[in-house]
Amino acid sequence: MATKTLIRSSWRTSLITAFVTFLFLMFLLGGQGGEPADMAWAAIFGLIGACAVISILRFGRLHGTRLIMFIVLGLFFTIIFSIEHQITRGSILLSDKQIDTGTGVPICPITLPFVVVPLAIRGEMIFPAAISALAFTGFFWLSMVVLFGRGFCGWICFFGGLDQGCAALSRRRIFKLGKWERWARLFPYALVLLLILVAVVALYPLYCAWICPLRLLYDPPEVTTSLDWLAAVIFVTGGMGLMVVGPLVTRKRFHCSYFCPLIPMNSLVGLVSPFRVKVDRSKCNDCKICIRTCPHSAMTEESLAKGTVTIECSRCGKCMQECPQGAIDFKLIGTNMGARPAFVALAVTFSLMLTGGYIRGLIHFLQTGTLGAIGGG
Ligand code: SF4
Ligand code: SF4
Repeated sequence: MATKTLIRSSWRTSLITAFVTFLFLMFLLGGQGGEPADMAWAAIFGLIGACAVISILRFGRLHGTRLIMFIVLGLFFTIIFSIEHQITRGSILLSDKQIDTGTGVPICPITLPFVVVPLAIRGEMIFPAAISALAFTGFFWLSMVVLFGRGFCGWICFFGGLDQGCAALSRRRIFKLGKWERWARLFPYALVLLLILVAVVALYPLYCAWICPLRLLYDPPEVTTSLDWLAAVIFVTGGMGLMVVGPLVTRKRFHCSYFCPLIPMNSLVGLVSPFRVKVDRSKCNDCKICIRTCPHSAMTEESLAKGTVTIECSRCGKCMQECPQGAIDFKLIGTNMGARPAFVALAVTFSLMLTGGYIRGLIHFLQTGTLGAIGGG
């Protein structure tokens, strides 16, 4: 078995980047007023961020460190989301009444393509959320995707933890997509086109009403009619298949590679991101370990031959950590200039900013019974 050649930065680069990350987190989580409790909280997360950066840059543990941060982010988001629903509507279940009242359902980034397009073309909001909530979610999503590209799916998305955790738990690939993989990668593009078409023609959020597998965990329907029951069966079956069984048998992030309708938007908008993953062909020995280990099927025979990855790469770093030649790394767009420290500092900062906000919200809830400010500190 090939020995891994972990890419390691110097102590100097690692410590400087860790310090910058510490400062970013102090600024973002420290609050406006500089209260001692806020500063102490920010310092704790600043130190966690600095340790994560050193683990990644100095010890080359990019994928492993990201994996822990990503799963913890998803876990605390799920806890906070459930508590918020218990407080504001008395149940984690979503009832028809709440949908009918029109503006109180949290909107997620996945809805953006099929909510924004009918809003722009026909002036109709087809999701029961306020337009201000849509604007806030859209701004958050766009800024993260412009910065990280599909790294949004590898570092920031609070929905990916379950899919990622199940793929990481799997010890052996039982099922390979083989020649179907190429078509499976195109499925999200076809799905989002269908969803936009239905949304514009029928003004109906088909995905949220009948398909979204994430409703296994978030906003499961209150069952009062036979149709609700049918929808619940679809959400549970789809969620288990795509988020649990699929990742376990394929060792891939199955939902986040072959299903999520946000994949096309993240991949296409992400083309403007300053960060790229590239293969140094002069180091590569064509062992193809990167193709086999990529959890998103974003390293293909064709892309490897060109020294690149497909636009669906989530910047997760698994290929970088597994490559025996240390041939894969982050580069600045359009150049061969190394960008690993800059990418890592920003990705760790924003991931921990969200996690820090959720954990703080949880502590606040345990102390007071209310959530206080959650999300960004
Ligand atoms: S880039 Fe891929 S094929 Fe080349 S040496 Fe690394 S793991 Fe092997
Ligand atoms: S190509 Fe590498 S960095 Fe991109 S998703 Fe695959 S394993 Fe992760």
